[in-house]
Amino acid sequence: MTPEEVLQEIAEQARICTRCKLHHFRKHAVPGVGSANTRVMFIGEGPGFYENEQGLPFVGAAGKFLEELLGDAGLTREGVFITNVVKCRPPSNRDPEPDELNACKTYLERQIAAINPDVIVTLGRVSMGYFIDQAKISSIHGRDFWSHGRMVVAMYHPAAALHQPSLRSVVKEDFSKLPALIVKAQKARETDHDPDETQPDLPGDELDDGQGVEQLSLF
Ligand code: SF4
Repeated sequence: MTPEEVLQEIAEQARICTRCKLHHFRKHAVPGVGSANTRVMFIGEGPGFYENEQGLPFVGAAGKFLEELLGDAGLTREGVFITNVVKCRPPSNRDPEPDELNACKTYLERQIAAINPDVIVTLGRVSMGYFIDQAKISSIHGRDFWSHGRMVVAMYHPAAALHQPSLRSVVKEDFSKLPALIVKAQKARETDHDPDETQPDLPGDELDDGQGVEQLSLF
């Protein structure tokens, strides 16, 4: 199967999926959208109200801001792939629960395998928790590290900047680093350099306060 066909198959399966209780709350599953041949994949937390209505990720105000940030980094919505760690909307926009993350990870794992991106950008604390255990996003945002042969960059969720205007310039600055990070990741993978797994140094005061999700293996 081509990457496009794999993504299509995953989307069809997610739309009728009953693997976790979130299917009770969905109007539309939100499998993800974008290019199957991109080098950059963006992973948020879960669909919100408008995403659930439309079946598309990052619509509404947060989606508009994400498009602005992508533009700042020389990217487009169509040129990258955008998805979430869970494909159905958690009620009242609560965080996805560990059993839901665990049930849904098969879709995200297969999407990552099909696309094989050089860079994964996590948007927000929950998707960051997939790759970094017990980190605080306020300490590691905008920084790159390597996980399973791939660069991962943790960013604030665009909605966070809408709720907290002081974060807006921080998020924009973090996104402005992306072009150079993408080049760095491409070079590392093309030269067959196998970067060591790097996790951010996490002194005690940078550990999460216990609200982070349990880190889940994606591979
Ligand atoms: S959130 Fe994921 S695992 Fe749960 S019902 Fe939706 S597609 Fe299935």
